[in-house]
Amino acid sequence: MHRPEHGRASGPSRRALLRAGGAGAGLVVAGLVSWPRPLGAAGGSRIALTWFGQSCFLVESAEGVRILTDPPGRNAGYELPTGLRVDVVTISHEHPDHDNLGMVASPTRVRVLRGLTADRKGWTKIDVRLKDVAVRSIGVYHDDAGGAKYGLDTIFVFEVSGIRIAHLGDLGHLLDDRQLSAVGSVDVVLVPVGGATTIDARQATRVIDALRPRLCIIPMHYRTPTATATNLATVDEFLEGKSNVRRLGTRTLHLTAIKSRPAAEIVVMTTS
Ligand SMILES: [Zn+2]
Repeated sequence: MHRPEHGRASGPSRRALLRAGGAGAGLVVAGLVSWPRPLGAAGGSRIALTWFGQSCFLVESAEGVRILTDPPGRNAGYELPTGLRVDVVTISHEHPDHDNLGMVASPTRVRVLRGLTADRKGWTKIDVRLKDVAVRSIGVYHDDAGGAKYGLDTIFVFEVSGIRIAHLGDLGHLLDDRQLSAVGSVDVVLVPVGGATTIDARQATRVIDALRPRLCIIPMHYRTPTATATNLATVDEFLEGKSNVRRLGTRTLHLTAIKSRPAAEIVVMTTS
């Protein structure tokens, strides 16, 4: 299988991160901060990922760029902020648990990157840069029938302060060689694992094995105690038989490009 190794985070950006290490780091304690105040990127050397449930993460770059992914509707069962200040919102597909701009402050002034065209029959081509963030998109499907069941989906690849993050949206199939090479090498994968309308635990494991993220794997889009999507499996099925699991116990994860473990960790986040 051909997989080009382009760049990763080994260029100047990572060196910059290493130089900046410690400058203010540790001032922000995960889980104790509240939005919409900047969460974790204040230290300058780290990025922060905060999970709001389903497929919705706030990603904060070291330079303070704030990206929100797939904001869910109010009826998804999660405690959602209002008036969240962000620079960019990405929407993998136009389903109500992924495209609610209601939690964002001044949505008309936010850059909304929709993966699908207005008629939902095609993908937009996204390739955007903002300070220390770059975002691009790859068109995929919400099912394993070429979109015939649930339509199209988008993978967003973010390069945030030198860390590459792939958000798979509601991916519904395994990735072929062309799609894998379009995603490229990544550090973090945000992967749906709950099945029903997306890949299930077994398929998600195969997708991860093919993507081979360097730092961590964050499961999403599964049934939690508060989720209203009760047709989804819990995260336990995905974790079964895996040893490199860390239960974070908070909704915010801080990351640097520095790799400290031999294998990528599975990080299970909570939404409270
Ligand atoms: Zn969904």
